[in-house]
Amino acid sequence: MSLVAKKRTLAEINSKIQKGSAKIYTVQELIDKIADGEKIQFEDVDVVTTATKALMSGIAGLFSFRLSPPKTVRKFTEVSLNGIAAFPGPCPNEFLGIVDIILYGTAHSKTKENYSGGILFRDLVEGKTINVSGKSEEGDLIEKEMTLDDMQFARMMGTRQAIKNYFAMINPSTESVNTIFSVLPLEGNCNHATFSGCGAMNPFQNDPNADVFGVGTKILVNGTIGYIFGPGTRNDRLKPNMQTIADFKGMKPEYMGAFRTSYGLENICSIAAPIPILNENVWNNIIKSDHQVPLVILNVVGRNKLAEGTYQDVWDNNFLITFDPKKCIDCDDCPVDAMCPTNAFNLKTGIDRTRCFNCGSCVVVCPKNAFKGDLKTIRYDDKNIPVVLRQSDRFGAINLATQLKHMILDGEFIIKEPTDKLEFYPQVF
Ligand code: SF4
Ligand code: SF4
Repeated sequence: MSLVAKKRTLAEINSKIQKGSAKIYTVQELIDKIADGEKIQFEDVDVVTTATKALMSGIAGLFSFRLSPPKTVRKFTEVSLNGIAAFPGPCPNEFLGIVDIILYGTAHSKTKENYSGGILFRDLVEGKTINVSGKSEEGDLIEKEMTLDDMQFARMMGTRQAIKNYFAMINPSTESVNTIFSVLPLEGNCNHATFSGCGAMNPFQNDPNADVFGVGTKILVNGTIGYIFGPGTRNDRLKPNMQTIADFKGMKPEYMGAFRTSYGLENICSIAAPIPILNENVWNNIIKSDHQVPLVILNVVGRNKLAEGTYQDVWDNNFLITFDPKKCIDCDDCPVDAMCPTNAFNLKTGIDRTRCFNCGSCVVVCPKNAFKGDLKTIRYDDKNIPVVLRQSDRFGAINLATQLKHMILDGEFIIKEPTDKLEFYPQVF
């Protein structure tokens, strides 16, 4: 008996989408259906939408705008936005008064405390006015107030996005450690754990060999259409990642911003990517349960591997963190108000859902259990270590994957073939 491999073309999928008969699911919907006992096969699914909302260091803003009238300044050599130094260049734009700049998301402001590129990007998307300051070759200083609408070009570039999941961190030493993997110093003696990664929802987790994703693949970046324009800076087979580009104009603030760790501010960024189910190999790679996704547990100092679990240990329909004002006793100095890493909590107004990252720190810090969320534990050395922080927002990722699903169904997002494969580099670490 000969077995014929099942496949379908992208043209067939797009035709079904146009006719309204395409079957599109987020990874989470598939997982829930399968957990409910539904038998789902290749024939039942045309497109799966994947997503991640996480801390992503490698983002930068590329901007071009007029800073002075023509013929007044020969060239700008220094430019800063809200006190954050940008890199002007490369073309001199001699006497044009226009600057082209790159500004990194992790760069910090010299004039505003606790203010980074990630916050600036969100402020721009929210329509806020920013201060732009430029110094010319001749030493003249020019200041200007500006909004995103005043910029003729404003795009976010990601150098290594949507990395195929990440790790859990624990601290076996006796001292607590300040790290980008914690909000409060990470306690020693393996008392606490933190983790990153949206588990089964992660794009590369569902296309681990980049059979579908390629150069030119259309995606969503922070809620607007963007593109993969190449392999990420550390795209190896173990931890694939992508380079992305998208216009700031059209992004949604709830998918971006900054996150305060005990070692400084990190960027928040969200990516959703569609996977057309072109053949059985693509279908077989789609994650059907978080049990399938390994969660490696590392020593936060040195990052050596200590143990391994799965993302089912930490993600199990526990995505949303909620606040019950009835349980709040109005402490003198609310520690959550001061600690919340995205400034999402205010005692008077509660949780700002457009800022909340569902990280769970408030659940740990509030002494009166006014916050609800099951943060789970991580198993190491016969010990269940409580998770005190989630550095990926699966709830936000599910929302973005759902947005993408509806955009495809409504004809607002047409899936196209990539123009080239994503090259994998040899593993460097
Ligand atoms: S710590 Fe908890 S109980 Fe105390 S004021 Fe803050 S939210 Fe309310
Ligand atoms: S889960 Fe709590 S601590 Fe984390 S961002 Fe939301 S309100 Fe802030």
